[in-house]
Amino acid sequence: RALKASEPILVAGARGLVGSAIVRRLRADGFQNLLVPERSELDLADKAAVDSYFKAHRPSYVFLAAAKVGGIFANDTFPAEFIHGNLVIQNNVIEVSQQHEVRKLAFLGSSCIYPRLAPQPIKEEYLLSGPLEPTNEWYAVAKIAGIKMCQAYRRQYGFNAISLMPTNLYGPNDNFDLKNSHVLPAMIRKFHEAKVSGANHVVVWGTGTPRREFLHVDDLADAAVFLLQHYDDEDIINVGVGEDISIGDLARLVADVVGFDGEIVFDTSKPDGTPRKLLDVTRLHSVGWRARISLREGVVETYRWYVSQLESQG
Ligand code: GDP
Repeated sequence: RALKASEPILVAGARGLVGSAIVRRLRADGFQNLLVPERSELDLADKAAVDSYFKAHRPSYVFLAAAKVGGIFANDTFPAEFIHGNLVIQNNVIEVSQQHEVRKLAFLGSSCIYPRLAPQPIKEEYLLSGPLEPTNEWYAVAKIAGIKMCQAYRRQYGFNAISLMPTNLYGPNDNFDLKNSHVLPAMIRKFHEAKVSGANHVVVWGTGTPRREFLHVDDLADAAVFLLQHYDDEDIINVGVGEDISIGDLARLVADVVGFDGEIVFDTSKPDGTPRKLLDVTRLHSVGWRARISLREGVVETYRWYVSQLESQG
C-alpha cells in the first residue's frame, strides 16, 4: 500500500496552492517520478485529453488537487463556473483513473460541503444533514458530488479513492487578488499595501465576528501524503487544526505581522458567510496525524513569501 518511489504519481493541479505544496512535500520525501502537467500540456476539462495522458504516462497514484476555487465574492459572482468547472474536472479525473487502474486516488474537497449551521466543531457525519451556505453552495454541491463519485466507484468497481476535507487553507502560491481571493491572502495584501502607502485605515469585509479555521498548506500537503498511505476508507476525513479565530482577531494578527498600525474598519455591507466553520479533527488525530504550523508562524512565513514575490516581480 505504501507509495513507492518508482511508481508514477500524478498531481492534478500542480500549479495551485494545494498541488504545488503536495509536489514540494513529495520531492522533499525523495519521490522523483512525479507527473505535474501544466494546463497547456493537459486540459483536465477535456476527457479525451485526460484519457490519452493517462495512456501515455500510466500514473499509479493520483492527487486530485485541481479545482476552480475562490473566496466569498468569486463564489457568489461566478456560480456557473464554480459548479461546472469543478464537476467536469473531477468527473474526468476520477473516471479515467478508475478506467486506467490507478492504485489509489486522493480527492481534495473543502469544509464548505457541510451545512451552514452545522454544530461545531463539524464532524464528518454532518455531511448532507442540512442546507448549505448560499454564497458557496455551487462549489459545495460540486465537491459533494466528487465525494459521492469516490464512494460510488469504490462500491461498484472497488476503486480505492479517499476524500479529504481540508479547512480554509493558506500559504505560498495562493491567490492574492483583492476581490476573488480568500480572506487571509486578501488581508496580507491589503495590510501590506496600506503600510507601504501610509494609509490610515484598512477595510475588512463583514462584521468581523465570523469564525474560521486556517491550515497552512504545507501541513495539508503533509497530511495528504500521510493519508494516501494510511487511510483507506470510503468515509470522508476532515483535515484541520482544531482551532478557529474570529475575522476581527485575524485582521489584528495580520496587521501585527505586517507592521500596520492604523485603524481596521469593518464594511458590514459585505457578506459574512457562514457564522462559524471549525472542523472536528478526532478522526484525523486517531489515524495518527496532527497539524504542526501555528497560525502566527504560518502568516509570518506567507507574508515573507508574498514580499519576496513582489520583489522578484520588480
Ligand atoms: P468563506 O470561508 O467561504 O466565507 O470565504 P472567505 O475566505 O472569502 O471569507 C471568510 C470571511 O472573511 C467572510 O466572513 C468574509 O466576509 C471575511 N472577509 C473579511 N475581509 C475579507 C477580504 O478582504 N476578502 C475575503 N475574501 N473575505 C474577507
